[in-house]
Amino acid sequence: MRPACYFVHSEAYKQYKFNDEHPFNQKRLDLTLDLMQKYELIKPNQFVEPRYATTEELELIHDPNYIEAVKKCGESEKLPIIAASYGLGTEDTPAFPGMHEATSLIVGGTLRAAELVMSGECDHAVNLAGGLHHGFRGRASGFCVYNDCSVVIAYLRKHYDAKVLYIDTDAHHGDGVQWAFYDDPHVLTVSFHETGKYLFPGTGKIFERGDGQGFGYSINVPFEPFTEDESWLDVYEQVLSEAARGFKPDVIVTQNGCDSHFLDPLTHLSCSMEIYRQIPKLAHRLAHELCDGRLIATGGGGYDIWRVVPRAWTLLWAELSDQGFSDNPAIPSEWIDRWQADSPVQLPPFMFEAEDVLPDIPRRPEITSKNKLYIEKALLHAPK
Ligand SMILES: [Zn+2]
Ligand SMILES: [Zn+2]
Repeated sequence: MRPACYFVHSEAYKQYKFNDEHPFNQKRLDLTLDLMQKYELIKPNQFVEPRYATTEELELIHDPNYIEAVKKCGESEKLPIIAASYGLGTEDTPAFPGMHEATSLIVGGTLRAAELVMSGECDHAVNLAGGLHHGFRGRASGFCVYNDCSVVIAYLRKHYDAKVLYIDTDAHHGDGVQWAFYDDPHVLTVSFHETGKYLFPGTGKIFERGDGQGFGYSINVPFEPFTEDESWLDVYEQVLSEAARGFKPDVIVTQNGCDSHFLDPLTHLSCSMEIYRQIPKLAHRLAHELCDGRLIATGGGGYDIWRVVPRAWTLLWAELSDQGFSDNPAIPSEWIDRWQADSPVQLPPFMFEAEDVLPDIPRRPEITSKNKLYIEKALLHAPK
């Protein structure tokens, strides 16, 4: 029997590495895969190797001059003068050797996932190294060089003429993807993120709704800082269900950044592990209800690589491979034994947090009622 879900992965994904001090750390892929394996959630026949995206594929989204600049930055010892005008070699997105190849492999991994799903070899495919949603047409931004989400959507448009629903639940606004398809009514982008008032990249306001033919096909929910599970999920479920059913996609692409957790060091939301059980559950249900199951899932942000990312992405995989947890299992002791010595923090004992470790939320009713107002506002011009 064919597996319903494939896992696109390569050891070479770790070559996407800025430097030792940088918060974007691909060790999280090792920690996640090992946790999935210790739970016995993945079988050998579910692994698929990524391929490299071709220059032609990258050019579906990216400016040829920008691609040239990325190649140059990855080849030269010294930063080329042109780097700065392409957002390369900054503190956020430093240049590193082989950066063109390393990012092309990640983009190719998401393309591979799309090929598997669209050919009917599986219902869903997961590429956790992907989710580089801040990459722009001609500029690197926010730890992202090429934008695999945008490239795969353009690829699905070109080769399959598919209507694509893009769901972005990273704590940061999915700006690169939104702007790439801002005037396209065949791509509905829905981004749930912490308000840009205090957080990079600053966009993702409720009134960013698309332009021209694409008006109504960009949806944004900017959550208040300190938003917790109940409010987050209430808004997510109502906005996404209604928008998706109105749009009727042929395929769903999800970006599963897991930096909305209260332990994440870069953001200010107060969610727990519970949202990472519920987020893929709804996306999964909608995929089967609306588009014959076709769903391509990518990773994204997530900067507590020890306590948050491995658990969140294990929950994503468990859901899409029909092994979702209904209880609160202990973290396998073999996993803790293997990694605790390397970890600067105490590793968690269970998949979900106990009530008493969740943060106290000042102004909770005020935050909840403010978020609630966004449901109607976000859906005001959504496809019906
Ligand atoms: Zn993020
Ligand atoms: Zn399924």
